[in-house]
Amino acid sequence: MNNNKYKILLVEDECNIQNLIKTMLETADYQVILAQTCSSALTLYTSHLPDLILLDLGLPDKDGMYLLKKVREHSLTPVIILSARSEERDKVDALDFGANDYVTKPFGAAELLARVRTALRTNRCSAQEGKYPGGRFTLSDLVIDYDARQVFIKETEIRLTQTEYNIVAFLSGHCGKMMTYSAIIKAIWGYPDDGSIKKLQVNMANIRKKFGAQPGETNYIINELGVGYRMNGEKDGL
Ligand code: CA
Repeated sequence: MNNNKYKILLVEDECNIQNLIKTMLETADYQVILAQTCSSALTLYTSHLPDLILLDLGLPDKDGMYLLKKVREHSLTPVIILSARSEERDKVDALDFGANDYVTKPFGAAELLARVRTALRTNRCSAQEGKYPGGRFTLSDLVIDYDARQVFIKETEIRLTQTEYNIVAFLSGHCGKMMTYSAIIKAIWGYPDDGSIKKLQVNMANIRKKFGAQPGETNYIINELGVGYRMNGEKDGL
């Protein structure tokens, strides 16, 4: 009966948060496997091979980062970090170590479920297509033609500079995943310098202006202040 359900490994040591998330996920028809420590999570991960992992960083035995690194040695299973506000720095590290996304506690069911759907979808796409570079990328009304280096929204070409195009293409190659400032800077300019973040922000502001980002419309690039950017196909205000 559970065969068609996505299996989610939930690693969280606080009972009330664990119960809350478990209920949210089961209501949305996911199958949930529970772990409260890093070591039990690793055992359950190996035996169940879940489709996605929700990972708290502050665990009683080891840091959640340990599990993330172990999983990333062999697999691209999507990992979403459940972070407390006090763990801001860890959140950025976790993204740089290959976590797909994070949610900051406390969060609502709609937000969590949207992140889970996006991470599962991204994983499916990249597993099937290997869509970058070469070929075309489509997300809602946004189309990127990688061979021609052209970007279209609703069939109208958006004129981008080379750098702006490179940033958009890079984010599209990691669609749905929050990319940290340092990951983007490294990919676009190589080694970072003092002005790198400012340079990135200026380019990004121009891209968003050219994309015509409007509240309530599909906002293709989401900025998380102090963390990075994510390309996403969901409407604003989930
Ligand atoms: Ca914890």
